[in-house]
Amino acid sequence: MTTLRSIPPWVTWITGTGPVRRHVMFCLGAGLIYAITGAILAHSVWLGLIPERVFWLLLGCMLSTFVVFFTLVRSGWTQRFEDPVLALPHGMVSVLMVVLAYVLIGDYRGDTIILLAQAVAVAMFRLRPRQCLFLGAWATGWLSLAQFGLVWTGASNFSVHRGLTHFGVSAASLMALAVVAMWISAMRQRISRQSDELRQTLVQAQALATTDMLTGLLNRRAMTDHVDNELACISRSKHPACVALIDIDHFKKVNDHYGHRMGDEVLRAFASLAQGDLRQVDKLARWGGEEFLLLMPHVEASQAFVAVERLRNSIAVHPMGDNGTFNVTISAGIAQFRPGETMDQWIERADHALYRAKQEGRNQCLIDDSVPAVPPADTAPPAAPASRAPNVVRLQPSSS
Ligand code: GH3
Ligand code: MG
Ligand code: MG
Repeated sequence: MTTLRSIPPWVTWITGTGPVRRHVMFCLGAGLIYAITGAILAHSVWLGLIPERVFWLLLGCMLSTFVVFFTLVRSGWTQRFEDPVLALPHGMVSVLMVVLAYVLIGDYRGDTIILLAQAVAVAMFRLRPRQCLFLGAWATGWLSLAQFGLVWTGASNFSVHRGLTHFGVSAASLMALAVVAMWISAMRQRISRQSDELRQTLVQAQALATTDMLTGLLNRRAMTDHVDNELACISRSKHPACVALIDIDHFKKVNDHYGHRMGDEVLRAFASLAQGDLRQVDKLARWGGEEFLLLMPHVEASQAFVAVERLRNSIAVHPMGDNGTFNVTISAGIAQFRPGETMDQWIERADHALYRAKQEGRNQCLIDDSVPAVPPADTAPPAAPASRAPNVVRLQPSSS
C-alpha cells in the first residue's frame, strides 16, 4: 500500500525530482487548464456552437504547446534559465492560441476573453514586474490586431461595436491584472530577499551561539551538546570515549608580563595548534578562561593520553610572543567514560586529574583512575565499599 509519504515511482517518472518537480507541476497546472478548455470546446461543438474543425485545430494547438513545454521543462534543460518553467514564452504562446480562438470561434468569440485573462494571469505569477507589463501589452496588442483583421476582412459575424466592447473589457481586465501581478511580483521579490537575509542571520546566530569568538573553537554550550550526543552514542554502541580538561599553566603571568592582548594571542595559538594536532572526530571547546575541554570518542584512556601528550609537547616548544620570546605549557586531566555516570561526573573526574597535575608540578598529563563512586552492577562485587577519593595514574610522559 502507498503511504502518504512515499511517492509512487510512476509519479516520480512524470514529475521528476528536486527543483524540476516544482517546475513540472507548473506545466501540469497549465495542462489541466488546457484539458478543461478542451472539454468546454468539445461541449460547444456538441451544442453546435462552434465548428468541429475549429475544435480540432485548437485542440491540436493546445496539445502540441503542452507537449513542447512539458518536454523542455521535464528534461531539466530549462534549469539553466532564470525562468525554468518558461512562464513568459508559455504565456505568450497561450495568448496567441486564445487570439486564434477569438478569430475562429465566430459568434461566441466574446467568451474567449476570459481565457485571455486566464492565460495572462497564470503566467504572471511567475514573472518579474516588467515581464508582467509586457505580457499584458502582448495580449492587448494581439487582440486589437485580430479585431483589426476581422474588420479589415469584413468578417460577417463581427462588428466594430462588438470589437470595441471586447477590446475595452479585455484591455481593462488585462491592465488591472498586470498591475496586480506587478504588485505581487514585487512582493515576491521582497519576500525572497528577506528570507535570504533571514537565512544568513540564522547562520550567523547559530555560529554565535556555538562558537567561542576569541578562539573560534566550540563554546561551552555547544560542547555540552556534543558530550550529551556522545553519551547517547555510547549507550547504544558501548564504545570507549575520553574527555580531557586542559589548562594553560601560569596564564595569569602571561597576562601580567606581556599584557592581556598577548594573553589572547596565546589562547588563539593554543586553539590553532590543538586543532591541527587532533583527529577530525575529536571536539575541542573553550570551557572557560584558559581552560579547554577535549572530547575524544572511540579511544581508551591510554590512547587519549598519547594524543594529549603530543599536544602538550607541541605547545611547549611553540614560540609565543611577538618575537617568539616565551613558551607556555599546559596541564591536562583525562577521564575515560564509565557506564552509568553522568556528563558532570565524567568531566568532574577529568577535573580531579587536572587538579592533581597542577599540584604535582604542572606541564603534565594525568589519567583519572578513581574507584567508581557507584560501580556498575555487572562489574562490582555487591559488598565492596565505594570510595569517592579521586585517584590518578600517571603514564610515562614523553619529554618536552
Ligand atoms: P594555573 O597554572 O594554576 O592554571 O595558573 P593560571 O595563572 O593559569 O590560572 P589562574 O586561574 O590563576 O588565572 C587565569 C587567568 O586567565 C586569569 C584571567 O584573567 C585570565 N583570562 C581568562 N580569560 C581570559 C581571556 O579571554 N583573555 C586573557 N588574555 N586572559 C584571560
Ligand atoms: Mg591556568
Ligand atoms: Mg584555569
